[in-house]
Amino acid sequence: MNIVVCIKQVPDVPNIRIDRERMTVIREGVESIINPLDCIALEAALELRRRDGGRITVMTMGPPQSEEALREALAFGADEAILLTDRAFAGADTLATSRVLGRAISRLNPFPDLVLCGKQTTDSDTGHVGPQVAEELNLPQVCGVNEIHLEMGALMVTQLSDGFLNTLRVSMPALLTVAPDLAMPHHVPFGDLEDAFSDREVIRWGLGDLDLQGEEVGLVGSATRVWQLYPPPPKRKGEMLSGSPQELVKHLISKLEALSILDENEGDA
Ligand SMILES: Cc1cc2nc3c(=O)[nH]c(=O)nc-3n(C[C@H](O)[C@H](O)[C@H](O)COP(=O)(O)OP(=O)(O)OC[C@H]3O[C@@H](n4cnc5c(N)ncnc54)[C@H](O)[C@@H]3O)c2cc1C
Repeated sequence: MNIVVCIKQVPDVPNIRIDRERMTVIREGVESIINPLDCIALEAALELRRRDGGRITVMTMGPPQSEEALREALAFGADEAILLTDRAFAGADTLATSRVLGRAISRLNPFPDLVLCGKQTTDSDTGHVGPQVAEELNLPQVCGVNEIHLEMGALMVTQLSDGFLNTLRVSMPALLTVAPDLAMPHHVPFGDLEDAFSDREVIRWGLGDLDLQGEEVGLVGSATRVWQLYPPPPKRKGEMLSGSPQELVKHLISKLEALSILDENEGDA
C-alpha cells in the first residue's frame, strides 16, 4: 500500500506566541516539533507497511526550515520526503494550504492508496486541512479514526463519534484523519536521526513544479482573513488558597462539600 502522510511543523506548545499586528503565529526563534497527531499518523502508516508492505511518503507545505520535520519523519521510518516550499505559499489559509497539498499528491506516480493527516494541529487547530485535501482530490474521507485495518482490498476503520463507535468500510484511494488513540509513536534511535539529517534526500517542489498560478496559493489564494486574535475572557474567577498542606486540604474539602461535589461522609473518610 502506498501511503502519504501529511505532516506540519508546529511550535512546541509552551512556546507559542502570537504576532497581534499580523495575526499570525510567531515561528522565528521558537523550537518546533512535528504536530503530535501527525507522528501518530506516521506510526499508523508504519504499522500498515509492516503488515501489508508498500511505501510511505511524508509531505509538508512550509518554509524551508520545515525540512527538519521531514528529516525527523525519515528517521522515524518514512521512505521519501517532499517539501512544498515557495515564497508564494506564505500566508496561506487552510484552503490554499489544501490546494497545494492536493496538487502535490495528485502528481505522485503511482497515486497513493491512502492519505493520512492528523485530525488537527496544535497551533492553528482548525481541523480543515484533511477534509479539504480529500475534496481537492475527490477522495472518500473519514475523520478522527482510531483503528485501521486492511480487509479484502478495502479499509475497515473505526471512529468515535457522539459517544458511539462507528465501523466503516472505505474503498481506496481514501483520506483518513487520525485521532490520538490510533497508535503510540515509537522512540527514534539517535543513529537514525543522524542518518536522516546527513544522508537522506528531501525532494523540494515549488509553485512551478505544481502547475499552480500565484493567485491560487498563499495569502492571495486564501479565501479567509484573520480579523482579530485575542484570548477569550476568563469565565470564572480563580481563588488562591494559602496555608499549610493540612489547612489547604481542609479548606478544599469544605469548598467541595459546599458545592455538593463531595458529600460530607466522603470528606471525613
Ligand atoms: C488568512 C490566514 C492567513 C494565515 N497566514 C499564515 C501565515 O502567514 N503563516 C502561518 O504560518 N500560518 C498562517 N495561517 C495559518 C495556516 O492557514 C494554517 O497553519 C494551515 O493552513 C494549516 O491549518 P491548521 O494548522 O489549522 O491545520 P489542521 O486543519 O488543524 O491540520 C490537520 C492536519 O492537516 C495536515 N496539515 C495541516 N497543515 C499542513 C501543512 N502545512 N503541510 C502538510 N500537512 C498539513 C496535518 O496532517 C494536520 O495534522 C493563516 C491562516 C489564515 C486563515
